[in-house]
Amino acid sequence: MNLLEVENLVKHFPVAKGWFGRGKQTVYAVNGVSFSVAKGETLGVVGESGSGKSTMGRSVLRLIEPTSGRVRLEGVDVTSLNGENLRKARKHMQMIFQDPYASLNPRLTIGNILEEPLKYHGVEKKNDRREQAERLLREVGLDDSYYDRFPFQFSGGQRQRVGIARALALNPKLIIADEPVSALDVSIQAQVLNLFVKLQETRNLTYVFISHDLSVVKHLCNRIAVMYLGEIVEMAECEELFRHPLHPYTQALIRAIPVVDPAQRRQRLILTGDIPSQTSPPAGCPFHTRCPQCMDICKKEHPALLTQSGHQTSCHLYGKH
Ligand code: SF4
Repeated sequence: MNLLEVENLVKHFPVAKGWFGRGKQTVYAVNGVSFSVAKGETLGVVGESGSGKSTMGRSVLRLIEPTSGRVRLEGVDVTSLNGENLRKARKHMQMIFQDPYASLNPRLTIGNILEEPLKYHGVEKKNDRREQAERLLREVGLDDSYYDRFPFQFSGGQRQRVGIARALALNPKLIIADEPVSALDVSIQAQVLNLFVKLQETRNLTYVFISHDLSVVKHLCNRIAVMYLGEIVEMAECEELFRHPLHPYTQALIRAIPVVDPAQRRQRLILTGDIPSQTSPPAGCPFHTRCPQCMDICKKEHPALLTQSGHQTSCHLYGKH
């Protein structure tokens, strides 16, 4: 059964243009993204910076308002909820952010940070909140004596553990983790990724795991969606995507992953140029300005996202033309 269903999600931001902000232009951050995530599944979302993956994650949770589209959690249309109903739905969907230091209030102790959401959602007694906060600290591998400390007294990895504990405080069903390990040292990354795996097993959590790094999501995710300029350009089971990537952008991302074993080294494919501006996406295929296999049709016609044996790709190399 699907826990999360996202249908044709769009997020466009109007922004001021020019020195005096007189003109207006639009940032086309997310352009009609659809996917579903089954209960207990981990969906990885990868792409370069500027691909719209973080905006997509925030729009799903309504931390920013989507321009259009539908988000359903266990069949409930979250996009149509307001006030108390939205507050209740938010209990079930939490976000973990990239920068744990910026996402924790430096003036509050770790205990207060963990108790805040409990208080907001009706845990009245201070003793009950403290007990739950200490239990959360132990669950993420921190000593409950850390309760009275402040965020600056923690290392990056410990702060991210606090961020995870805070996200767990309300017993969510869905966690959207936005680059949760990219600010950490490589040795700490592995520990935090292991914690994600352990928590998923013990709590039957469902994850949407956003990362710019395919090698990070490879060992954690059941399926992977590749985003480029606000669109999903390829989505498949994790193993299938690595074994048989179809879209030239996915192929380039996979071939850019460093390989230590010389026997397994593949020819690197370096993409030239940057991802185009989100304010003026190119006509036709959004990837055509960087694609080594670009054809005439790619500059004029947007390729449809087609599915074959559960593997989705939007590329004219595989469609009818
Ligand atoms: Fe490349 Fe054309 Fe496929 Fe786009 S549609 S990825 S430009 S081959």
